[in-house]
Amino acid sequence: MTDRQHGPRPRPNLDALSAHRPGKPDYAGSFVLSANENPYPPLPGVLETAVAAAGGCNRYPDMAVGELTTELARHFGVPAGHVVTGPGSVGVTLSLVLAMAGEGDEVVFAWRSFEAYPVVTRICGAVPVPVPLTADGAHDLDAMLAAVTDRTRVVFVCNPNNPTGAALRRDELVRFLDAVPAHVLVVLDEAYLEFARDAAVPDGIDLYRDRPHVCVLRTFSKAYGLAGLRVGFAIAHEPVAAALRKTAVPFGVSQLAQDAAVASLRAEKALLERVEALVGERTRVTAALRSQGWTVGDSQANFVWLRLGDRSLDFAAACAEAGVAVRPFEGEGVRVSIGEAEGNDVFLAAAEVFRKQI
Ligand SMILES: *Cc1c(COP(=O)(O)O)cnc(C)c1O
Repeated sequence: MTDRQHGPRPRPNLDALSAHRPGKPDYAGSFVLSANENPYPPLPGVLETAVAAAGGCNRYPDMAVGELTTELARHFGVPAGHVVTGPGSVGVTLSLVLAMAGEGDEVVFAWRSFEAYPVVTRICGAVPVPVPLTADGAHDLDAMLAAVTDRTRVVFVCNPNNPTGAALRRDELVRFLDAVPAHVLVVLDEAYLEFARDAAVPDGIDLYRDRPHVCVLRTFSKAYGLAGLRVGFAIAHEPVAAALRKTAVPFGVSQLAQDAAVASLRAEKALLERVEALVGERTRVTAALRSQGWTVGDSQANFVWLRLGDRSLDFAAACAEAGVAVRPFEGEGVRVSIGEAEGNDVFLAAAEVFRKQI
């Protein structure tokens, strides 16, 4: 007997979400500049460490993530109790919203920004409150402040912003943080901070120290090049940090990921060299695009943003045809990650051809 009407019913807040589709696009033979990944292989010593850890994969990982947590606390000069790791900073984001917001609560974020914010908010049954970016692709902090109500539990600030690459300055961010009501947790998502070169862009960890309502999110996926291993972390005061430990998936960070992250932190010199090389490529790509006639902002991240509007999908198709995968946002623009010089050159050639046609 089947009775679909009375069968298991997923929570209705999931209806607004699209299911993840199985299968991966076929990027064979293409340069992949669509996911802001690092084009370099793991940092020196990381692969060896990961291989050694893989040998122990019949065992559960360290549930407390002790070594990595201690290393992060030392690295950033924060109490170990304030560091909470998770399976990518997306995993930590889910723990965060689960910990802070439930049915009917509001989560404010800029839009367009990172796609995970509205998704995670809906999963938790909370209400997404997107606030349009300014014309330059920056967070409109005054409008975000105006969007805060007594139902607001979390505000995400993505600095630098994905996908526009715009970054907030210290003075404007400080003014915002000090104006937000004390009951609201402000999450500074700094997935790309290592790539920022504008000296006015603050380090969120300095802003968190004496502000109990500020939490910083970082990831090993971008500058550190460990996207495939899934490890990110939050730095937050109590009681938020303890709540994050309660809502985290147990054993969510594999031993392989934990050990690779520790080894990556210890390879800081090589990391800084690679980030510097990518920043150099960003400067080169930006200048080349401008000389082709494009309007491009000064991205503080490892990607550039082209405001193509209705031409976004066509542009992405032209890039794919030329052998480079980029990330279009229909009707808005196209985000192009900075990759190895060769891939960037293929992209620039495709952009030049397209530019001449419009
Ligand atoms: C890529 C990205 C992350 C990191 O995601 P992981 O789950 O750590 O791979 C977080 N925030 C933003 C804004 C990002 O673009």
